[in-house]
Amino acid sequence: MASRPVLLTAEDDPAVSRAIARDLRRRYGQTHRVVRAASGPAALEALRELTLRGEATAVIMADYRMPGMSGVDLLEQAMDIQPAAKRVLLTAYADTDAAIRAINEVDLDHYLLKPWDPPEDRLYPVLDELLEQWARHARPGFDGATLLGHQWSDKTQQLKEFLASNQVPYRHLRDPEAAAVRRAAGLSDADLPAVVMPDGVVLRRPGLRELAQRCGLATTAGSQLYDVVVIGGGPAGLGAAVYAASEGLRTLLVEQSAIGGQAGQSSLIENYLGFPRGVSGSELAQRARDQAVRFAVEALTTAEVVGVVPHGDGRVVRFRDGGEVTAHAVVLATGVSWQRLPAAGAETLAGRGIYYGATAHEAASCAGEEVYLVGGANSAGQAALHFARYAKRVVMLVRGPDLRRGMSEYLVARIEAHPAIEVRTGTEVRSAEGDGRLERLVLAEPGTGRREVVPATRLFVFIGASPPTGWLGEAFQRDPRGFLLTGPALLGEDGQPPPSWPLTRDPYHLESSVPGVFVAGDVRAESVKRVASAVGEGAMAVTLIHRYLETI
Ligand SMILES: Cc1cc2nc3c(=O)[nH]c(=O)nc-3n(C[C@H](O)[C@H](O)[C@H](O)COP(=O)(O)OP(=O)(O)OC[C@H]3O[C@@H](n4cnc5c(N)ncnc54)[C@H](O)[C@@H]3O)c2cc1C
Repeated sequence: MASRPVLLTAEDDPAVSRAIARDLRRRYGQTHRVVRAASGPAALEALRELTLRGEATAVIMADYRMPGMSGVDLLEQAMDIQPAAKRVLLTAYADTDAAIRAINEVDLDHYLLKPWDPPEDRLYPVLDELLEQWARHARPGFDGATLLGHQWSDKTQQLKEFLASNQVPYRHLRDPEAAAVRRAAGLSDADLPAVVMPDGVVLRRPGLRELAQRCGLATTAGSQLYDVVVIGGGPAGLGAAVYAASEGLRTLLVEQSAIGGQAGQSSLIENYLGFPRGVSGSELAQRARDQAVRFAVEALTTAEVVGVVPHGDGRVVRFRDGGEVTAHAVVLATGVSWQRLPAAGAETLAGRGIYYGATAHEAASCAGEEVYLVGGANSAGQAALHFARYAKRVVMLVRGPDLRRGMSEYLVARIEAHPAIEVRTGTEVRSAEGDGRLERLVLAEPGTGRREVVPATRLFVFIGASPPTGWLGEAFQRDPRGFLLTGPALLGEDGQPPPSWPLTRDPYHLESSVPGVFVAGDVRAESVKRVASAVGEGAMAVTLIHRYLETI
């Protein structure tokens, strides 16, 4: 919940300061927080801290005569830190002329003569009006993290995606508010992107791991030995982790970026059992994560696994940061990742107008814009409908001749009926151009030979997914596209497991070519690419793990 707006007072006389605070609390104590400072510099410091903590300051009341810094100077400097705050100068009768001059010089909102007894007549009416004016335009205070960075910077985009997909409440400020927070934090351009945490701590150009740690997310394992290590925090991994932990297995869930996997990017999953009106991927991920935590699953983020190696009866799991843990059994649930767009210039502009997949939050920032989207499968269709709720126009670029080839009928029907979505079939992106950010796309229609240059600022790519399994050693058998072979798919024409298989029994149904290492979800060859089946395979892998553990 956002904190109450602040009424900040600067007064060097302790008795007067207490009296002001008493009057303010009497009328505004329920709705506002009164913060007192004993000098101009102390008030500026308090204002900086409030700004960094995302607290909104509604009114600043400063005494005209204070040693060190006058009230007028304070109010002038305060404007740079909280430009929206209403500024009131407190004066004695003798200083009235100076106060009137200050109104013009530093654009004061009001001056008040001390003493103001009774406050009902001489203080509250003035403040009521100022607070009303402030509330009409003010942004409420904000309890989450504040991201500062250029909209078209890939690094800013990366931080934004990380915060969003890990369900960390955040706001991405634009100028002039961003400039005010930058000044309050003393940040230069070289410090960007930066994140100001809710407690006011400023992270300059943070890496994802540092950010994760600051957000209270675990990034390294708490112990050396587990019953099960699940690699990948998508639906399959979450399913496996929840079932394993609920059945008493000591479980570590390892995710390289954000819990939720691809499903976390889905704006509305409509075909998952038990959610008749659909459920957003991020909500499903959040619920599954809570469930996993409730069953005492230890979950890591920003922890990339780079190796799984058998060692006796144990399976050693190696992390990119050099750490390792040992498990009795492992579940590989590493899913798939988007293929890169094979168009000239696309790599340079990734994160600067070209995005792979899209988390649901991205759509709101496209309000009133024209958005291009590449892909013709369900994920692209779902995204097009979601973007069309915000964007002025969504143009889907589909290489094939017909949407129906790769998309469910219910999505095709909605897309065709949507007035803001245009589908261009038989169309490819040849190149992406722009100076530091996407500005133009060169489109081609191979069927007709037509070429066209269109202005474009945002292109979302949803094309064919490939399994990131290159890091697994030769011992893990894959199909030609890199999907992992399991169970019966490992048996040759003679019905025998591969020569490297060390046991007399055949591999269990979801077991890879390395005993004790199971595979679940999209990364498995011939798997059904759906949330429900991924979760189901995760659960099934745990049943097979129990069977496996009885044999070692
Ligand atoms: C936009 C979109 C919409 C979709 N809509 C639907 C829908 O409506 N209905 C439906 O049923 N399905 C839908 N899907 C498909 C569904 O999301 C996937 O089938 C499902 O997420 C697969 O789950 P998974 O756990 O196997 O893999 P993923 O969800 O891909 O998760 C794998 C996870 O493993 C992590 N990982 C990979 N390598 C490593 C490593 N080396 N170390 C640590 N972690 C690693 C990844 O970061 C990722 O988080 C949609 C997919 C997308 C992209």
